[in-house]
Amino acid sequence: MALSDLNTIERNEAGIKEVLGVLKERFGDRFQTGQAIRQQHGHTTTYIPNQPPDGVAFPESTEEVQEIVRACAARRVPVIAFGTGTSLEGAVNAPGGGISIDMSRMNRILSINPQDLDCTVEPGVTRIELNDYLRDTGLFFAIDPGANASLGGMAATRASGTNAVRYGTMRDNVLSLTAVLADGSTVTTGHRAKKSSAGYDLTRLFVGSEGTLGIITSLTLKLAGIPQAISGGVCPFPSLEQACEAVIATIQMGIPVARIELVNALQMRAMINYAKLDYPESPCLFVEFHGSDAGVAEQAESFGEIAAEYGGGPFLWTSVAEERNRLWKARHDAYWASLTLRPGSGSLSTDVCVPISRLAECIVETEADIAELGLIAPIVGHAGDGNFHTMVLMNADDPKEIELAEEFCARLNARAQRMEGTCTGEHGIGQGKIGFIEGEIGQRGVDVMRAIKAALDPHNIMNPGKIWPTHGGVTGTDEDRHFVDTLARLS
Ligand SMILES: Cc1cc2nc3c(=O)[nH]c(=O)nc-3n(C[C@H](O)[C@H](O)[C@H](O)COP(=O)(O)OP(=O)(O)OC[C@H]3O[C@@H](n4cnc5c(N)ncnc54)[C@H](O)[C@@H]3O)c2cc1C
Repeated sequence: MALSDLNTIERNEAGIKEVLGVLKERFGDRFQTGQAIRQQHGHTTTYIPNQPPDGVAFPESTEEVQEIVRACAARRVPVIAFGTGTSLEGAVNAPGGGISIDMSRMNRILSINPQDLDCTVEPGVTRIELNDYLRDTGLFFAIDPGANASLGGMAATRASGTNAVRYGTMRDNVLSLTAVLADGSTVTTGHRAKKSSAGYDLTRLFVGSEGTLGIITSLTLKLAGIPQAISGGVCPFPSLEQACEAVIATIQMGIPVARIELVNALQMRAMINYAKLDYPESPCLFVEFHGSDAGVAEQAESFGEIAAEYGGGPFLWTSVAEERNRLWKARHDAYWASLTLRPGSGSLSTDVCVPISRLAECIVETEADIAELGLIAPIVGHAGDGNFHTMVLMNADDPKEIELAEEFCARLNARAQRMEGTCTGEHGIGQGKIGFIEGEIGQRGVDVMRAIKAALDPHNIMNPGKIWPTHGGVTGTDEDRHFVDTLARLS
């Protein structure tokens, strides 16, 4: 089913017109309505069509976000938070128009607490900015998606990256946050304590909510100590299956890998050309170990032995920072490298995640599917978590190619769900995966999510048209209204 069938939000023309006037007068140059800037604030990273907002506001404080939200709430106009716009599922699109709230000017680091290993930041700080700031403290923030995303956007999509196998995802690394709700009030979800049993876990409710419940205006994050020693390297394998088996054995034996990333032969070809790497064009594992000098050497040797058991090697590893950084830069640039396999093409990036014991089976079936459908679709993944991406390269102007790519994606998502996994390990549902949420958590699961949404945002102004199918105006769908009525009756 086409995206447009799953996601139609009526425009509230009168409300939008009024809000544009109010915000222009209040924010002056910090409120923009030019076409180019509006398009930049719609979806730009994959083939999903761009649906620009009607205006873009650049607040500098929580109070200013509250003002914008109140202006929109009073007129039932959608508000869509914008971090750096690197999300891949159409999450920043404005299907019913409305106001994009660009968080880039809320980029202050508010406090660092080295003894407690935490910090509090505004949402527009990017992960690289935070790590540059932390460099002299001996601490770092571990979550590293391939893009230099904002921390607010990363929390909102429950992002992760190559380090998640050791340090977890945003789910595990946000201690607390403050968000502006749909009525313009604020909520702070917790404190700096490492754990809490105080009622519902509101922090985790907002982490992964994709801007549909509130606009995050500050976050308290866990930090980690920079390890004394780091070693890492690349290990080629004769087949993808053998590489997967080596990953599974490494995790099951409890070797504390910090990163273990799988790259298939086609993706290796792209990375070799793009980053000028000197490795064979065969499936490879990129691995890294964190610890003491002796610890990382021992871990690297144990991994090399496991890899050899599964036909892998030679495993060339190093503790020299420049060489390691070059390898990880190449890995982080995998998305851009893959686009060179078909210059000018659009892409559809998948991100299923399965229990680690099913990883080999899932990847092998997926490679067979790619061959059967005749697609160009390199594979790269955070294999230690059972999470991998296929980048389907296609002519985004050709409906037949889009249909084929979507069919592949649907089969892959169903495969992962059949294997007790998820259709999205880290990119979120946005618009692109709306058709798969019910297959994942069932109709009742979707009902519960809608009930939460309706309780917090009864007029559906917070990033409408995302996560589950929506048809109707910004005043809410029939189902939303049903939930509001039910809640009212219960209270
Ligand atoms: C090359 C490349 C590699 C990538 N690799 C990874 C990867 O390894 N792992 C991974 O997880 N992702 C990856 N991504 C996807 C992307 O980087 C993440 O989804 C990231 O978390 C998005 O952050 P952002 O700041 O760009 O958010 P945006 O794209 O701006 O927004 C994403 C969503 O968050 C909401 N949002 C943004 N800011 C706020 C806020 N302050 N309050 C409430 N809601 C907000 C938006 O409304 C939207 O729904 C990659 C993307 C690219 C282009």
